[in-house]
Amino acid sequence: MVEVQVQSAARSVAPQDRLWDVVILGGGPAGMAAGLYTGRALLSTLIIEKAVPGGQIANTYLVEDYPGFLSIEGPELARKMEEQARHFGAEIVYGDIESVDLKGGVKTVLTSEGTYRGRTVIVATGASPRKLGVPGEDELAGRGVSYCAICDGAFFKGEKLAVIGGGDSALDEGYFLARYASKVTIIHRRDEFRAVRQLVERARQHPKVEFLMNRVVERIEGDGKVERLILRDTRTGERSAFPVGGVFVYIGMIPNTGFLKGQLKLDDRGYVPAPEDCATGIPGVFVAGDVRYKFLRQLTTAVADGSVAAMMAEKYLLDQGVEPGTKEKEAAVKA
Ligand code: NAP
Repeated sequence: MVEVQVQSAARSVAPQDRLWDVVILGGGPAGMAAGLYTGRALLSTLIIEKAVPGGQIANTYLVEDYPGFLSIEGPELARKMEEQARHFGAEIVYGDIESVDLKGGVKTVLTSEGTYRGRTVIVATGASPRKLGVPGEDELAGRGVSYCAICDGAFFKGEKLAVIGGGDSALDEGYFLARYASKVTIIHRRDEFRAVRQLVERARQHPKVEFLMNRVVERIEGDGKVERLILRDTRTGERSAFPVGGVFVYIGMIPNTGFLKGQLKLDDRGYVPAPEDCATGIPGVFVAGDVRYKFLRQLTTAVADGSVAAMMAEKYLLDQGVEPGTKEKEAAVKA
């Protein structure tokens, strides 16, 4: 009861005017897990999210590989994660992160909406869809070119659709789109899928899903909206026009680390290298989720990172002499 009163008093101070124990960049599964742990540990916790909490799962049709849920819709799981982080005291603000200053005992985060200060920072900004980079893609984005089946699938009822890619996302979202489309063709550049067998088989057995292998997209064409893809056969070099009403691109992700340049070491693909303890090498700065270089990028590994980063942030604060809950009490006394 005391804890709830203390936290509500601290909340009367604007997020920009507080010095947070933990500032978490990104409200996906890694950020939400970190916020749940640090909030529950009575550390004052701010999560900065760009748009919709939940990250990639907010745009995922079904999640079937998260322990505890036989099957759950991505947006619902995202909502539950947000609810749980908030329940334990984490606060969420919205804004685009523009730059950070991570050195020193107080780190600053500049966003489109304001500047926030934290004793520790957990970078959990995830990754964004990779683009094909072919002519017509940008011009027809939102006019038949999409990167989110959940967001846009319903606009394509009765249409013939193409999904580009051969990983879990392409196979999962291709299957999802079949509920709206008259036909879904999953177009992959090799003769073998990268996706797990279960997803490939589920798609293969769907009467409205077909596979087109060994093809790459060279151009996306249409007059004001997508009408056809120009494909090249990677074995013969032969080009062909493939008529479609929409194309969904699922060819992997790019880490969201542009704002970290000059602050944290990044690998050649832009990921933050960090060992199992999620420490970045800068005191008080940790990294979690898909933005960290790692072997397996899954929901489960993202939340695992989030919890490790949170515990490491707490340990760092204790080493600095910051007692969990103290700052909330100070703020409450001042309020
Ligand atoms: P991914 O596993 O990296 O797969 C990307 C796919 O796109 C690959 O098949 C790749 O082909 C193809 N590709 C890459 N660049 C291309 C280009 N320029 N043109 C044509 N094709 C291109 O990415 P993802 O499917 O988005 O998955 C990302 C992570 O999320 C993975 O760890 C995945 O397991 C996870 N995930 C899991 C689920 C689930 O239900 N469990 C659902 C979605 C995502 P190659 O195979 O030839 O390299």
